[in-house]
Amino acid sequence: MTLLDRAIARTLPLVPKGIVRRVANRYIAGETVDEALDVVAGLNQGGIRATLDILGEHIHNLDQARRAATGYVGLLDEIARRKLDANISIKLTQLGLKVDPPTCFDLTTQLIGHANELKNFVRIDMEDSSCTTDTLQIYRQLRRDHSNVGVVIQAYLRRTVNDVCALEDLRPNYRLCKGVYVEPREVSYRDMRVINRNYAYILEKLLRNGSYVGIATHDELMVWEAFRIIRDLRLPPTAYEFQMLLGVDEQLRDIIRAAGHHLRVYIPFGRDWYAYSVRRLRENPRLAGYVFKAMLK
Ligand SMILES: Cc1cc2nc3c(=O)[nH]c(=O)nc-3n(C[C@H](O)[C@H](O)[C@H](O)COP(=O)(O)OP(=O)(O)OC[C@H]3O[C@@H](n4cnc5c(N)ncnc54)[C@H](O)[C@@H]3O)c2cc1C
Repeated sequence: MTLLDRAIARTLPLVPKGIVRRVANRYIAGETVDEALDVVAGLNQGGIRATLDILGEHIHNLDQARRAATGYVGLLDEIARRKLDANISIKLTQLGLKVDPPTCFDLTTQLIGHANELKNFVRIDMEDSSCTTDTLQIYRQLRRDHSNVGVVIQAYLRRTVNDVCALEDLRPNYRLCKGVYVEPREVSYRDMRVINRNYAYILEKLLRNGSYVGIATHDELMVWEAFRIIRDLRLPPTAYEFQMLLGVDEQLRDIIRAAGHHLRVYIPFGRDWYAYSVRRLRENPRLAGYVFKAMLK
């Protein structure tokens, strides 16, 4: 990031919402289920899978949590009705993790049960480090009765290597990403070289252990590491998939697909687009240019 990018990233909360929306449009598939599923249909036609995220996190009461769960139930029904190749990604704080963990567990269980009836799958996103222990504990509990659920782990966390060792017996279906939240140094690595090495180290460990891994990255170096590991372990394309965010590096997406690998695009949508958009813009190195262009328009 240039100094200007960094300055803009820091002052993003001061940028008018209208401008953030205009710049972030490429990262979100509209506000409604129909708009999002049209994007999924387009990707499916090109042989790309999808995972859908109804934006919203850290709700304040259980009514909001129940509404979020109902939204996901309807979304699963619509995916089935339109016969789309898409699953869902949920955030436990959106289902009440910080308000009432037992209710969060019940809502998540119901959602996974419903997905199971529709032969679909639920991925639990990983949020900031205050949620890691609870999320992994809930994941372990859910796995007692359900296999159509996976979880996310973050290579930037110092604890992650221990977490994956502790879950080894379950052979979880993982998404491995670097991690997007701002964490204290004692919690997460700061040096990108260390994060990258940890990413490759953990990826190899998971694939050797027989876990299905969603390799979530737009980093060519991590993609190269993944290709190396897949080749060394002689893994079939059914043992893993690559995952990328909507609107990011479509050329790399095509390169991965052309090399014969499955690819899934993460598609956020919904009315609560602001927090997500700000996170995406903060990590985009061309941030300043985009924001300036939108302001000039
Ligand atoms: C499918 C998917 C699901 C995810 N789920 C989670 C989750 O549950 N929890 C979590 O903490 N994080 C999640 N993330 C975010 C992830 O942790 C990283 O913050 C993000 O993917 C950037 O890391 P990177 O591996 O792409 O590498 P980086 O080194 O950050 O980026 C590699 C390259 O991609 C480009 N790039 C990265 N992001 C953007 C962007 N927004 N716009 C334009 N270019 C960009 C950069 O310019 C750079 O050149 C997810 C990411 C993906 C792809």
